[in-house]
Amino acid sequence: MLDCAIIGGGPAGLTAGLYTTRGGLKNVSLFEMGVIGGQITKSSEIENYPGFFDANKTGLDFMDAWEKQCFHFGLKHERKKVLSVEKTGEHFTISVEGGETYEALTVITCTGSTPKRAGFEGEDDFFGRGVSTCATCDGFFYKNKPVTVLGGGDTALEEAFFLSNICSDVYVVHRRDEFRAAPPTLDRAIRKSNIHLITDSVIDEAYGGVMGLDGVKIKNTKTDTITDMQNSGLFVFVGHNVNNSILKDPQGNFICDMSDRGQVIVNLSMHTSVKGLFCAGDLRIEAPKQVVSAAGDGSIAGLQVISYLQELA
Ligand SMILES: Cc1cc2nc3c(=O)[nH]c(=O)nc-3n(C[C@H](O)[C@H](O)[C@H](O)COP(=O)(O)OP(=O)(O)OC[C@H]3O[C@@H](n4cnc5c(N)ncnc54)[C@H](O)[C@@H]3O)c2cc1C
Repeated sequence: MLDCAIIGGGPAGLTAGLYTTRGGLKNVSLFEMGVIGGQITKSSEIENYPGFFDANKTGLDFMDAWEKQCFHFGLKHERKKVLSVEKTGEHFTISVEGGETYEALTVITCTGSTPKRAGFEGEDDFFGRGVSTCATCDGFFYKNKPVTVLGGGDTALEEAFFLSNICSDVYVVHRRDEFRAAPPTLDRAIRKSNIHLITDSVIDEAYGGVMGLDGVKIKNTKTDTITDMQNSGLFVFVGHNVNNSILKDPQGNFICDMSDRGQVIVNLSMHTSVKGLFCAGDLRIEAPKQVVSAAGDGSIAGLQVISYLQELA
């Protein structure tokens, strides 16, 4: 029986592993199906994690030290894809691909989220080299420069507003003639003189060279006119896929309370509505979707698991 099963080896899961094992738990396993380190390993740089400031290091370099430190105190690594988590009496059963199962007294789910891609030409080629899905992470790289934003919902307009305080101009491209964002959010964007709203339009192509993105071609869907916008930053906000499938029972119902956006509802202790089940990082409600906050969540969840097990004993 595991003291704790941690699912997902990004910043939240690794930090939870560090805190649980360094806090004295002997039998903790981290299930990670891919590269240890999570989403940030796909980034070419990270500038907003305090204490780490090296422009020549990638997200993968940054997470390398985490892996060494977080496994140092006895955390075990199961390189497996978890299919489901089920509460069986007082403990949990974790089923993994291949048919094996594990039993655990507590579970911390840290499976993160994945920003959706819009699907235009060049998007994948320039992802992380001009095409971004995070204004907080990458906006500063375009200080006093014009950028393009794709999307028409609340997130797109809130992120456009954030960028408008850093960048010279923000061109928001939306495929419909009306924005889906809440009226106050839209009003705020309209009132900001350096935000320019471009409706009935899509990104036709993102283009550039070895140094990264040089610009985007915007197509008006009513007239088919193409406008060449030579902005080296393009922010795509067309939604996030929350990696929550492991929390569904065989009937397809979630085993704990979820928001209508599919995020796990937690309290300030990262405890879900199910006793012994915790959640940390991008998967939880109102996650800021930053490495530093995912790590903070992981530490809280790790400490809370220790207290929970002490009370059970
Ligand atoms: C390109 C890019 C650049 C970014 N830049 C920055 C930045 O500069 N600064 C910043 O603070 N943040 C940045 N972020 C955001 C940051 O990476 C995330 O907020 C953070 O990684 C979230 O951590 P997490 O541990 O919650 O989830 P994740 O990092 O998403 O990790 C979740 C892990 O769970 C694993 N997993 C999922 N499902 C299963 C399963 N069923 N079984 C086993 N394993 C599973 C995944 O493989 C993944 O490794 C960036 C993100 C991207 C994509």
